[in-house]
Amino acid sequence: MKRGEQGRVWPLLLDACLVLVLVALGLAGSVSAYRALAQKAAGQERELLNAMGQSVVGAFDLQLVRAVEALQVSGQMLSAQGRPTREQFVRYGTGLLGESSALTLLEWQPTVPHAELAEFERRAALEQPGYRVVEPATEYESDGFVAVRLREQHLPVLYSWPETGAALGVDMAFDPRRMRSKLLARDAGSPVASETFSLIRRGQSGPAAIGFAVSAPVYRTARPVGVDARRRELLGFVAGVIELPGLMREAALRADANELDLFVFDQDEEHRLIYSSAGSEPFRSDGGDTALSVDVGGRPWQLVLRPRPSFVGAGHDEAPLMALAAGAVATLLVGLAVARSLVIRRRLERAESVLAEDRQHLTNVLDGTAAGTWDWHIDSGRLEINERWALMLGRTRAELEPVTGTTWERLCHAGDLIEANVAMRRHFSGEAERYTAEFRMRHADGHWVWVQSNGSVFQRDAEGKPLRLAGTHMDISPRKADEQRLQDDARALEAANRQLRDLAILDALTGAFNRRHFNDVCMAALAGAQRGQAVALCMLDVDHFKAYNDHYGHQAGDAVLQALAQTLKDGLKRSTDALFRLGGEEFGVIFSAASAEAAQHFVGRLSAALHALALPHAQSPLRVVTASFGLAWWAAPTSQLTPEAMYAAADAALYEAKRGGRDRIAFHCFEAGQGEAAPLATTR
Ligand code: GH3
Ligand code: MG
Ligand code: MG
Repeated sequence: MKRGEQGRVWPLLLDACLVLVLVALGLAGSVSAYRALAQKAAGQERELLNAMGQSVVGAFDLQLVRAVEALQVSGQMLSAQGRPTREQFVRYGTGLLGESSALTLLEWQPTVPHAELAEFERRAALEQPGYRVVEPATEYESDGFVAVRLREQHLPVLYSWPETGAALGVDMAFDPRRMRSKLLARDAGSPVASETFSLIRRGQSGPAAIGFAVSAPVYRTARPVGVDARRRELLGFVAGVIELPGLMREAALRADANELDLFVFDQDEEHRLIYSSAGSEPFRSDGGDTALSVDVGGRPWQLVLRPRPSFVGAGHDEAPLMALAAGAVATLLVGLAVARSLVIRRRLERAESVLAEDRQHLTNVLDGTAAGTWDWHIDSGRLEINERWALMLGRTRAELEPVTGTTWERLCHAGDLIEANVAMRRHFSGEAERYTAEFRMRHADGHWVWVQSNGSVFQRDAEGKPLRLAGTHMDISPRKADEQRLQDDARALEAANRQLRDLAILDALTGAFNRRHFNDVCMAALAGAQRGQAVALCMLDVDHFKAYNDHYGHQAGDAVLQALAQTLKDGLKRSTDALFRLGGEEFGVIFSAASAEAAQHFVGRLSAALHALALPHAQSPLRVVTASFGLAWWAAPTSQLTPEAMYAAADAALYEAKRGGRDRIAFHCFEAGQGEAAPLATTR
C-alpha cells in the first residue's frame, strides 16, 4: 500500500470505529433503559399480583381463622368438663357450624386405650346402636372397613355433626400421617390442621371431595401446662372438617375475576399441590407467578397466583419494548447521521488538501514567474494586489493601502494610460478575448518600470456588465531595454547605410551628386520628361581656375569650389532639380523648365548669383571668380534621348561659351525629336 492510500485508510477506519462505538453505546443504553422499564413494569405487576393475592387470601383466610378459633374455643370449653355427652356435642356442633361457614363436619374423637376399647364400644352402642370401632381396609372400597387393629391407643370418631346415621367409629389412629397433626395439636394445646385427604363419607357415592381436618385438643383439666401434662391429660380431639373446594370457592372466584389461576400447595407435604382453580391442568411455573404463604392452623400453605395470558398488565406494558425500539432506531439514526457527517468531513478535508495543493502550485508558479497579481472590483474600485505587485515598483503593499484603480492610474505613465484603457474597453466589449497592455509604472526610486498586464473578466452581472477583472503584472523592463537597444542599433545601421549610399553618389568636397550618379539622375529626369515635360542640362566650368590655384593655393581653390556649389544648390528650385560635380571645377545642373526662356532665365540667375558672390580672382580679367555656362534644353524629348547625348549637347554649348570669351552662357534649344543624338543648333 502506498503512503497516500494509507493516509486515507486510517481516518476511514477511525471513523468506522467511532460510529460503531457510538452505535454500541446507544444500543447498550437502549437495552438498559428497556431493562429498567421492564423491571419497573414487572415490579408493578408483582405489586398488583400481591395485592390481588392478598385479596384472594382474604377471601378464605377469615373463614379459616374463624373455623380454627371456633375449634380452639370449643376445645378449651370442653376441657375440664370430662368427656362430652352426645347432647353436649350436638349443642356445640350446631353452634360451631353456625359460626363458621368453612366447617362442614364436626367430630368428637376421644382417646381410647386398647384395654378399654370393648367397654367403650359397649357404652357407645347404647347411644348409637351397632356402633363399633373400625378402620379402612387396606384397599379403599365403599364401606371397606375392617375391625380395628391392635394398637396402644385408639382415636375413634364417637360423635359427628351433622350426623350421618351410620354408627361406625373410624379409628383415626390407623393413619400415622393424619395422627401427626393431632399429636402436634395435643402437644401445642391449640388446633392444628391436617394434610389434605379424600373425605370418606359413609353412604356417599361419587368422587370424594378433598379436604382437611383441624383438630383441637380436649384435656381433662383446663389449660394444662407443658407437653407432659398435655399428653397425660388428653381426653380426645374436636375435629372440624373443611372441604377445600368450598373454602376456596370465593378465593377462586376472585382470582378468576382477575384472570388469575390459583394453586395451593401444602408445604408440609413436600410442596404437594392440594388445590387448583385451573382444573386438571398441571402446574407449571413460568416465573410470572406470585406466591403467598398462609398459615392454616399451624400448617404452612403456599398460594400461587399465576396470571393467565389475558391477565391485565401481564406482558401488556409495551413501554419497555417501545423504549427499546425507539432507542435502537434513534441510535441507528444518530449513527447514520454521524457517519454521514464524518464522510462529509473527510470529503471536505480531501477537497481542502487538493485546494491547498492547487494554491501552493499557484504560489509556486507566481513565485517562479515573479508575477504580480491583481483583482479589480470594478464597481467599488478596490484593487486586490499581492506583495509582488508592489515589490515590482520598489514598494510594499502596506505602503500603497488603500489600493484602488486610482492607485494604478497614479503610478502609470500618462503617455501609456490611454492605450491601456483602450485595451481594457476592447476586452470589456468582447472585441478582445483578453486584456493585454504594456505600460510604464513609476518605481519608488523614480525610474520607470515597464509592466506587461494580462487579465480577463471573470465575473459579470446579469446584463453582462463586467464586475471583476483579474490578472498578472510582469516586469518586462529588461525586454523593453533589449527592444530599445535593437531599435537604436537599427537606426544607427540605417544612418551608416545612408552615409554609405551618400558616399557612393555624392562628391565629398562639395556635397553635390558625383559623376557616377549623373546617369541615374539623368534617366530619372528623362523618365519624367517622357511623360511630356521639357528637360534641361546646364554645364559650367570655372574660368581661369588653374591660375587661381596657382595664385591662391589649392586649398583656397577648394573653398571656392565649395562656395560655388553651395550658391548653385541654393539656386535650385524643385526637388527634382539636381547639382553634379562632373569633374575638377566643372559642374552640371539638371532641371526642368517649361520653356526655353525659362531655362535661360534660370541659368542667368545662377550666373548672377555667382557674380554676387564676388570671390576675388587676381588672375582673371574681371578680378572676380566667374564661370562659363553651356545650356541644352529639350522641349519634348523622346525615349531616344540618352544621358550621353545630353552631356554631349551641354558640353558642346560650354565649349562654345569658353570659346566665345568665358563668363557667358551658350544655349542649345531642341524642339521635339531634335538633338537627341548630337547638337544641331547653337544660340548665344
Ligand atoms: P579655362 O578653363 O578658363 O580655360 O582655364 P583654366 O585654368 O581653368 O583651365 P583648365 O581647365 O585647363 O585648368 C583646370 C584647373 O583646375 C587645373 C587645376 O589646377 C584646377 N583644378 C582642377 N581640379 C581642382 C580641384 O579639385 N581643386 C583645385 N584647387 N583646383 C583644381
Ligand atoms: Mg576645366
Ligand atoms: Mg576652367
